[in-house]
Amino acid sequence: MRAKPTKGLCSFCGQPVAKVSANKHLSSCAKVLEAITKAEDSKRKRETLFHLRVQADGQAQYWLDLEMRGSAKLGDLDHYLREIWLECCGHLSQFSYGGFGGVEIGMTKTIAQAFQGGETLTHIYDFGTESVTLIKPVRQREGKPLTAHPVTLLMRNIDPVFECQECQEPAAWLCMECIYEHDEMGTLCDQHAENHPHDDYGEPMRIVNSPRMGMCGYDGPAEPPY
Ligand SMILES: [Zn+2]
Ligand SMILES: [Zn+2]
Ligand SMILES: [Zn+2]
Ligand SMILES: [Zn+2]
Repeated sequence: MRAKPTKGLCSFCGQPVAKVSANKHLSSCAKVLEAITKAEDSKRKRETLFHLRVQADGQAQYWLDLEMRGSAKLGDLDHYLREIWLECCGHLSQFSYGGFGGVEIGMTKTIAQAFQGGETLTHIYDFGTESVTLIKPVRQREGKPLTAHPVTLLMRNIDPVFECQECQEPAAWLCMECIYEHDEMGTLCDQHAENHPHDDYGEPMRIVNSPRMGMCGYDGPAEPPY
């Protein structure tokens, strides 16, 4: 589904930030700096922390900025991406350098190992109806992790706004039959979802903040795991 580029929301101060300014904001946000100071007082181990830009390939409006522990595994990132964006039927997934036909990188590799060369990683979920995600290392710092988890969400794109295909009002629902059988957007407002005639693919489903909307059996909830 296509939509206008969206800003991100800083997880710490709640401010909307343009995608190009995300790094600048995160380096100077008072709430982030406060969280870093607080983390330094914790008993967590100091290590190299990686700021990663996660981008849905070909869908500029879906992106995440994450901080990960260098000692965390690619498997932790895979789990996070499945929860927040991708999981529908437990499909296979893979990390690689160079995408399809590239060099596969095992899920047990650490973040520090995987990103030491500064290369962008490709994550593929589902080799049938594939979702492709690009993960780029933005910068690193030495310090204590901001949370007890392997991944900390720094910023996430604000929900893209879709127009109802019938009336151009904001849409909250998606009809799969429109997409698969009628080559339409499938986006519907509350009112037009109410009496929509299609049910071959079930009732219209709620639009969630994920690049996998409308693919395979995906129906959300698009919430981070922690
Ligand atoms: Zn902020
Ligand atoms: Zn599926
Ligand atoms: Zn409508
Ligand atoms: Zn429909």
